[in-house]
Amino acid sequence: MAQRIVVIGGGGGGLGAAGGAKAVDPGASVTVFTEFEDVAYSPCGIPFVHGKEIPSFEALFLADKQAYVDAGIDIHYNTTVSSIDVNARTVEVVGKGTVPYDSLVIATGFSYADPGVPGADLDGLYYVKNIRSAMEWDKRLDSVKKAVVLEAGPLGIEMATALAHRGIETHIVDPNPWVLGELCDPDIAELVQESWTEMGVQMHWNTKLNAFLGDDAGSVRGVDTSAGVIDCDLVVVATHKEPNSALAVAAGIKTGSTGGLIVDSSMHTSAPGVWACGDVCELPHQLGGLPLQGLTGSHAYAQGKVAGANAAGGSREYQPVYVPWGMVAGKWMIGGVALGETAATALGMPYVVGAADGISRARYYPGVKKVRVKLLAEPGSLRLIGAQMAGGEGIKERADFLGVAVKKGLTLRDLATMENVYSPPIGALNEPIAVAAQNALAALAKGK
Ligand SMILES: Cc1cc2nc3c(=O)[nH]c(=O)nc-3n(C[C@H](O)[C@H](O)[C@H](O)COP(=O)(O)OP(=O)(O)OC[C@H]3O[C@@H](n4cnc5c(N)ncnc54)[C@H](O)[C@@H]3O)c2cc1C
Repeated sequence: MAQRIVVIGGGGGGLGAAGGAKAVDPGASVTVFTEFEDVAYSPCGIPFVHGKEIPSFEALFLADKQAYVDAGIDIHYNTTVSSIDVNARTVEVVGKGTVPYDSLVIATGFSYADPGVPGADLDGLYYVKNIRSAMEWDKRLDSVKKAVVLEAGPLGIEMATALAHRGIETHIVDPNPWVLGELCDPDIAELVQESWTEMGVQMHWNTKLNAFLGDDAGSVRGVDTSAGVIDCDLVVVATHKEPNSALAVAAGIKTGSTGGLIVDSSMHTSAPGVWACGDVCELPHQLGGLPLQGLTGSHAYAQGKVAGANAAGGSREYQPVYVPWGMVAGKWMIGGVALGETAATALGMPYVVGAADGISRARYYPGVKKVRVKLLAEPGSLRLIGAQMAGGEGIKERADFLGVAVKKGLTLRDLATMENVYSPPIGALNEPIAVAAQNALAALAKGK
C-alpha cells in the first residue's frame, strides 16, 4: 500500500514538503490541508500590489491548481484540521472526519501577535496575509486617507512604504527606538527614516499602543498611544510573527522558548512520525545559538523540502541558519546577515567593526547609488560574524555573498583582499565590502 503523508498547511513550508515527499516517493499518497482558498501564490508580493508597483494580484500566482492535481498532490482548500492524535496517527478534519497518516508534516505557519489592547474587534484592522482578503482590502485602500502601521518589522516596513507610494498619509507606531529595532542598527535605520520623512511618512518611535478607537458603526477611527491619539481610517497590524502552534501543542508536541516547535536537523518534532517546517518551528541560529522563529518564506520552503523528503523516507538534513536578509525600506534597500551591533550587544558577543560608504557603479556612470557597508568580526580571529548594509542597489547580492562568507568563516583579511568585478554600469572599482574590511584592519593597526 502507498504510504500516506499528510501535510497541514499550504504556504511555502507545506507546499515545499508536499513536493519534497513526492520527489522521494512518487508513489506516496500526499494530502495537503489548507484553510485558505489558494496555494502557490507569493504573499511576499502583496505589499507591492498595494503600493501599485505591481499592477495586479494575478501576477502573484505561481502555479494553477491543476498543476498539483497533475503532480499527484491532493490539496483540500478551505479545510481546517482541528486536532492531531499522534498515538493513533490521525488528524481530525472539519467536515471530513478522521484522516489516518503514516507520516505527518505540520506547516501551520505564523499568526501576528495579538496587540492585547481594547478595540481589536473593530472593522478596519488589516492583518496582511491571505491573497483573497488582500484583494478586498486593496479596493478599500482607494478610499483610505490616513493609515497607521503598527510596528516597523519587515512587513510593517513594506506596508508603510507601499501606503506612502499610494499617496495615503501614513503613520508608523512602534515601541522600539528605530525601524526594525531588534535587528537593525541605528546608522542603517537613519537612512530609511530620512527617506520616509521625504515621502511624508510620520514616525512615532518609543510609542506604545493603548487601544484601537472606534466610531459608532464599529469601524476604526484612530489609535490611542503613549504619545497621544492618531486619527486614521485603517490600521495595518504588522506585529511580531508568532508560531501558529496551538494545534501541535494540543497534541503534546514540544515547543521551545519562542513557542515554535522544536525540530532536529531532519525537521523531525518530538512526536514519532511528525515533522514540521516553516514559521511554526524554532531553529537555533548558528552564531550564538539564539533560538529563532518566524524566519522567511525562503527558509520555510527549504525546510519544507527537507521535512517532506524525510517524511517520505529520505535522509536529508537542514543546514544551520545564518539568515541573510534584505528588503526595500523607503527609498533604500537595507540588508545584512547574522548579527549587527544591536544583536551582538544584546547577546553579549564582543566584536570589532569596519564600515565604508561606497558606490554601486563607476562614479561617472548614470544611476550610481550610495552603498553603506558595516562588517562585524570576532576580535582576534577576525572571522566575520555579521554585516549590515543600506544602499540604492546591490544589497541583496552582497547579503547573499556575506551569508556564505560568515558560514565559511572568512575573515576581515579575506574580505580586505577580495577580488571584485569592476564594470562601470554594474560595479565600482572599489568594492564597498572590501573597503569596509580594509578600514577595520587600518583601525586595528592603529590600535583603535
Ligand atoms: C505580506 C507578506 C509578505 C512577505 N514577504 C516576504 C518576503 O519578502 N520574503 C520572504 O522570504 N518571505 C516573505 N513572507 C513570508 C512569510 O513571512 C513567512 O515566512 C512564510 O509565509 C512562512 O511560510 P509557512 O508555510 O511556514 O506559513 P504560512 O505562509 O503562514 O502558511 C500557513 C498555512 O497553514 C494553513 N493552516 C494553518 N492552520 C491550519 C489548520 N488548522 N488547518 C489547515 N490549514 C491550516 C494556512 O491555511 C496556510 O496555508 C511574507 C509573508 C507575507 C504574509
